[in-house]
Amino acid sequence: MKNLYPWQQESWQSLNGLRTRLPNALLIKGAKGIGKQEMAVNFAQSLLCDAPLASGLPCCECDSCHWFEQGSHPDFRLVQPDALNDTEESGEKESGKKPSREISVDQIRALANFANMSAHQGGYRIVLIHPAESMNINSANAVLKTLEEPTEKLLFILVTHKPQQLLPTILSRCLSLIVNTPSREVGAAWLKQRGVENPESALAQSGFAPLLALHWAEEGEGTEELSVLLSSIRHPSQMDALALADKLQRSAPALVVHCLQQWCYDLASVKITGQVRYFPEHMDVLKKLSANISAMTLLRYQKELQIAKREAFHPLNQKLQFESILLSYRLIFSSSGA
Ligand SMILES: [Zn+2]
Repeated sequence: MKNLYPWQQESWQSLNGLRTRLPNALLIKGAKGIGKQEMAVNFAQSLLCDAPLASGLPCCECDSCHWFEQGSHPDFRLVQPDALNDTEESGEKESGKKPSREISVDQIRALANFANMSAHQGGYRIVLIHPAESMNINSANAVLKTLEEPTEKLLFILVTHKPQQLLPTILSRCLSLIVNTPSREVGAAWLKQRGVENPESALAQSGFAPLLALHWAEEGEGTEELSVLLSSIRHPSQMDALALADKLQRSAPALVVHCLQQWCYDLASVKITGQVRYFPEHMDVLKKLSANISAMTLLRYQKELQIAKREAFHPLNQKLQFESILLSYRLIFSSSGA
């Protein structure tokens, strides 16, 4: 049986309301780590299901649902970057190449036959593209071409947390649906039920994305590195940026940059409003540090972090990048003696 996350009821109802008047393309957007993809998959499955439940969720018992769950439904295609396919043992090692993080034009071209066939089950054929922002310019143009000449009963579902990175011409052809980010209470309660320690702070550090918070908690991912990072940035005057970059060099860049962004958000926030969002347990330190730096300096540094985040996935210069952002962090305090 399929379930929705407690914060998805409203978005699901809107989605389910489209069942009888489906567009050619649907864009499901919202923050990262809140279950958009699962909701999109549930919707696709329920459109193909022979006997959807009153809630609109798929029955999980009919033939169609069985095919779908085995990944072999003839009327459904999932298109995602190779890096997201579970093919750890296949191809990758033989060729020595890392699986791609992009959706290639070949993946879109491979849909041509599918798009032109009529549905096996006489209903809809569905293409789910996730995450849609990982299409490169060629694949995006190929999708656009298909959307410009829509085929009857062929539904494209695009899932993204970065709609601003999609071609405006694609956006204009999609019906958009926003998946809400859960409130602090709902998100924390859900994490608590799953046995996550300190659910409030885990949720805040994930940027209020419960699935991401749960993933980090379960994997213990980065916990050690993050505590090293936090204990260093609390004392910028004693911080050895190069040694720290060295210690962090195997950490996920997104995690490190994310943590610095939240720390700086709190520095700015405590300065301007006296409140903090992500690190309430470090309120005193944040207050002390922020007292001696200007909001302008912080803003400049936050811009630098934004750029680093965009580039954070180039493994070749990862350590250099850590060095650069940590040295800059050190510098913003250098005149304050903090
Ligand atoms: Zn079913």
